[in-house]
Amino acid sequence: MDTEILAAVAAEQPAMVDLVRELVAAPTLLGAEAAGQAVMRRAFAELGLEPVDVPLDAAALAAHPGGAPHSWDVGGKVNVVADWGGGDGRSLILNGHIDVVSPEPVALWTGDPFAARVEGDWMYGRGAGDMKSGLAAMVGAVRGLQRLGLHPQGRVQLQSVVEEECTGNGALACVLAGQTADAAILTEPTQGAIWNAQVGVLWFQVRALGAPAHAGEAGEGANAIEASYAVIEALRALEAELNASKPPLFEAYPHPINLNVGMIRGGDWPSTVAGECMLSCRLALYPGERVDDLKARVEETIASVSAGSRFSFEVLYDGFQCEGYELDPDAPLIAGLADAAARVSGQAPPLFASTATTDARTFVLYGDTPAVSFGPLAESEHGVDERVFVPSIVQTAQALALFVADWCGAGRAEHEVGAAGSAD
Ligand SMILES: [Zn+2]
Repeated sequence: MDTEILAAVAAEQPAMVDLVRELVAAPTLLGAEAAGQAVMRRAFAELGLEPVDVPLDAAALAAHPGGAPHSWDVGGKVNVVADWGGGDGRSLILNGHIDVVSPEPVALWTGDPFAARVEGDWMYGRGAGDMKSGLAAMVGAVRGLQRLGLHPQGRVQLQSVVEEECTGNGALACVLAGQTADAAILTEPTQGAIWNAQVGVLWFQVRALGAPAHAGEAGEGANAIEASYAVIEALRALEAELNASKPPLFEAYPHPINLNVGMIRGGDWPSTVAGECMLSCRLALYPGERVDDLKARVEETIASVSAGSRFSFEVLYDGFQCEGYELDPDAPLIAGLADAAARVSGQAPPLFASTATTDARTFVLYGDTPAVSFGPLAESEHGVDERVFVPSIVQTAQALALFVADWCGAGRAEHEVGAAGSAD
């Protein structure tokens, strides 16, 4: 059976590449996810499934401990899910996110970031790696199994979610809608490794207020842009403290907790001392630690900068405030997925604790669903000339297909052969 499944999924490579190309052409930045979700809705329908929209309910998200604050409107925003198969077998969620981060500065790219191009075995484009190739691999796995007339004996739910890159509120909306399972695999670009642990992430903003004045009398003012130097320095000291006390899970990592100063906006006139400056930052926390405790440390740090200065500071929260998690390496999901992946590549995939966050946490922490990330080989995610190794999309899909057959059980129903129009 393995040989048949591997071949059937490999035959779907052109369809998977086409789907990635089409998805990359939809610039699914925050607030513009709908065009990508339309592509996924159609891809699910072409599998003979009935796609269902799962809307984001701002009030329900805000009331949940895992909900992240957001200053933007989520009205009308939806996840797209579709169920395949069902029966007495174990259920499974295959999840990917449709949103991508900005490709700016676009001038640094070799080509248009939203026009995917293939060079040799690599496909370039914003989101090609993170993670439109993962979404295509999910679809390719189903197509391959359907090509053989196989269908799962447990429910497989395909999910294309929004807001993985900023809040996780998309995946949380799925959990709140009762979309949980016996296991979940998120096809993030993990380079073929299984990520069974990850840090949590806090987004915060530091708003500095100084005193605007004429540049000719600059001594009478207080420059809020320049005040941010001290803020960054103090936050770097906090970051160093957090990295100095690593839990065993991250002992081998030189620098697991990263502070990122991702945005700065301040002042409004070259000849006016800047009265206001806003820093937007990202900081990580270890699994098992509480977001509230990290918030308190950030606020203490900013208070220490504020003491005795001419500036006032405020810490604001908008976006991620999520905890990390670790799934027991002995979990059946991990053993089963490692076995399936080894039957594709010839070697067992390594387990990895990620220094970034993914939606996997939401299923584990709030959905009672063991979850890992496992997916293609990509490079320069969030960077310039992001790319994915095309053979790794196929290998991901092959491992997913083998895993579906093992985990849920796979049966042949004569009348379903060719249902998706792809049986040979
Ligand atoms: Zn991602």
